[in-house]
Amino acid sequence: MTDLDPLELRHVSRHFGSFVAVDGLDLTVRAGARHAIIGPNGAGKSTLFGLISGTLPATAGSVLVDGRDVTRLPVDRRVALGVAATFQHSSLFLRESVLENVLLAVLRRSGSGFGGWRKVGARAGAIDRARTLLDRVGLPARHGEPAAALSHGERRQLEVAVALATEPRLLLLDEPAAGMSPAETARLTELIAALPREVTVLLIEHDLDMVFELADTVTVMHLGRHLKTGSPDEVRASAEVQSAYLGTMEVSP
Ligand code: ADP
Ligand code: MG
Repeated sequence: MTDLDPLELRHVSRHFGSFVAVDGLDLTVRAGARHAIIGPNGAGKSTLFGLISGTLPATAGSVLVDGRDVTRLPVDRRVALGVAATFQHSSLFLRESVLENVLLAVLRRSGSGFGGWRKVGARAGAIDRARTLLDRVGLPARHGEPAAALSHGERRQLEVAVALATEPRLLLLDEPAAGMSPAETARLTELIAALPREVTVLLIEHDLDMVFELADTVTVMHLGRHLKTGSPDEVRASAEVQSAYLGTMEVSP
């Protein structure tokens, strides 16, 4: 039996009024891939993530997860199917503690909710799991502080812990390194590289060093359309990509 593709987009579009942010895009993400999506600001990358995670309904086309059509499913149903996302604009509970943010996601995944919370055994297990995740993303010392007290980079780390708490099989990361220090970016890159291959990663990132370090497949979007998909080397070498994208921003040597 062949593995089903964790994600397939069939001619998916999203309009905002008369503006077409994502325009008939076809894309297949293979099981275990580290697949990056790059493209200039406004290319439609974040909108595309909305269509995959379910925060934005598609105007046309379909989204398939493991071969199943999820185009009309709400976010929670997609999370239950193993789709988790961190968003470009934070979705943390800023007044809750760092640990509580992760704990809520752990409990949501286990389906025990606050009923399970009353059982001491389940509670201890969930707290352990939340602590382990916070260690993994590099936030071991900040558990009791409100999420609002974290630096920008630390909030991004916390978002990754929250996403991992849902035990995703498809992890969507929207510019996770944005606003991070070089040290934080390096740590995050290591964390993503160390994720088990059962987790397929789809990454939007502006930091091309990070993209070329992590990705085995790169898709370039431009003006809402699919411009090219290939290996990092193929994408780097493409004249079409260079004129549409790489030429428009600084690329480190
Ligand atoms: P990217 O993430 O590639 O920078 P976005 O997906 O955020 O691009 O945006 C693509 C285009 O869609 C932009 O021109 C943006 O202004 C527009 N857009 C995004 N969200 C909305 C919205 N809610 N309403 C209207 N236009 C939007
Ligand atoms: Mg974006």
